[in-house]
Amino acid sequence: MNHSSRIELNPKALRRNLRFIRKQLPEATRYCSVVKGNAYGHGIEEFIPIAEQAGVDYFAVYNSHEAYRVFLAADNEPDIMVMGYIDNADLDWAIEHGIEFFVFEPDRLSVAAEKARQSGKKARIHLEIETGMNRTGFDLPQLEAVVPLLLEFENSLEIMGICTHFAGAESIGNYVRIQQQKEVYEQACNLLQENNIKPHYRHVNCSAGMIRYPEMNLDLVRVGILQYGFWPSMETFIEYSQPLENKDNPLKRLITWKTQVMSTKEVMKGEYIGYGTTYLAQKRMMIAIAPVGYAHGYSRILSNQGRVLVQGRRCPVVGIVNMNAIAIDITNCKNVQKGEEVMLIGRQGTHTLSVASFGELSNQLNYELLTRLPMDIPRYVIN
Ligand SMILES: *Cc1c(COP(=O)(O)O)cnc(C)c1O
Repeated sequence: MNHSSRIELNPKALRRNLRFIRKQLPEATRYCSVVKGNAYGHGIEEFIPIAEQAGVDYFAVYNSHEAYRVFLAADNEPDIMVMGYIDNADLDWAIEHGIEFFVFEPDRLSVAAEKARQSGKKARIHLEIETGMNRTGFDLPQLEAVVPLLLEFENSLEIMGICTHFAGAESIGNYVRIQQQKEVYEQACNLLQENNIKPHYRHVNCSAGMIRYPEMNLDLVRVGILQYGFWPSMETFIEYSQPLENKDNPLKRLITWKTQVMSTKEVMKGEYIGYGTTYLAQKRMMIAIAPVGYAHGYSRILSNQGRVLVQGRRCPVVGIVNMNAIAIDITNCKNVQKGEEVMLIGRQGTHTLSVASFGELSNQLNYELLTRLPMDIPRYVIN
């Protein structure tokens, strides 16, 4: 059975983005590809093989279920890091398969060490430091308190990393806060060093941090949004390109999301379109109905705001986004037929719709719209 829309992925775009990212990094800095949120909606099962073919050998996810999906989808036994939730019941599997995970609580540390001792394999852990985001992580006194545990369980623990996460590197407004985070992070690194504990990787930067705080790229970066061809915020791109002569966007979107016209109709001046009275036709109009709605990840925020491409033209979404459908103003198109392509994210003719052109409503919109693309929309890799 056919779905009402499809997603296509372009591996060439990924290779290009990875080349761009690599150029920003010191030779010795390792690259970790962040694939949480179903690879930002691209699909873990589809994305992992093309990333491996592009040379990626390290992936980061948020929880153990995602780690398991990466583990199954991968061909080349990449390193896998869980940055967030892992149930104690999943620790045995993680340790057995060398899956790395963040540790941010003494309880997790001692359970991991104990399970590692039983299994005869080392638990590969990253010590997450609370530096000011107030999400997860050991603050300095807590870190000091667990140093004896780290030393005691030396033979059961492989300390892969010491890490933290900046609270909003994509916005200059957070600059001072991030400088404070850097200081706390450095104190945490010093504390370990004084105790002769040597993690393999010091890592703090995500996409925005990598561009904006390159001095903090350290031993490893955890990059998500950039590799998919999106900037973390417009501001990050402006800051990156500001000193450059060539202002072209060096990134290329991997994802294309498209559907087709399901039905067309004429609407008379003075009639309302869709639920309620949010859209009043100011003139005689032609509209097309496309079979995609909020159930498919086309956010209700885009009611009367979204844009799609039909016949290479930018056409507004009119009225409220329905659960399974949207109405599109095609008055300026020529004789649109049922079955004609409707581009939701991607290019048609000379026009391109990035997720961001859905509206400058929020920095986080790219992230949210991408990760909300449902798992069951079919994904195709187009070579
Ligand atoms: C999501 C996430 C990243 C990647 O963020 P991007 O902005 O997509 O590069 C890095 N580190 C942590 C801890 C994250 O949660």
